[in-house]
Amino acid sequence: MTKIFSLGKNWKIYSKEYATKRPELTFTCEKEQCNQRDLHNHGCYYRTAWTKHGRFQIPIYRWRCPECGQTLSVLPDFLVPWARFVTPVREAAIKRKAQGQGFPHVAQGVVSPAVSGISRRTIKRWWRCHLDQVNDASQWVSGELIQAGIDTDLLRLHSQGVNPTLTDTVRWFATLIQKYFQALGRGSTSLVG
Ligand SMILES: [Zn+2]
Repeated sequence: MTKIFSLGKNWKIYSKEYATKRPELTFTCEKEQCNQRDLHNHGCYYRTAWTKHGRFQIPIYRWRCPECGQTLSVLPDFLVPWARFVTPVREAAIKRKAQGQGFPHVAQGVVSPAVSGISRRTIKRWWRCHLDQVNDASQWVSGELIQAGIDTDLLRLHSQGVNPTLTDTVRWFATLIQKYFQALGRGSTSLVG
């Protein structure tokens, strides 16, 4: 099992803090038959973090249940379990793409030439993945807004009804999220939960 924690803004801070010392976290086993046994420290493994400037090895700490043997790894939140590049690199790529840069340009811009190893295909995949998430997320948020009785012409906001491109959806999502947080700020509790 993997859990993600905020353990420093980037790999540098994380390494400084946790190169030889595990984060002070305690866990109990979630399995019913283990009756909330405390997990024991269980060493670490090393993982490569691909950043803008190069590849770095960082320790990932593990815990283990003495009862059932299940292990738990704690990832810092600048890493995504299945992804090679650290989150800031992915975010920078999405941002550049959203601003209208082409895939090759983005691929060159987000990592230094020394790193080489990020292809346009990778950027394309990140972008598609981002758009999928935006689609799902904006549907969810507009559902919430409608349920909360917020009077907005949600669909009209979405690119005046003409075949919206996914990039339009990205923009639309930004507007929705803004409204959503405005609504939360007004104390519209029906939105929470
Ligand atoms: Zn257990």
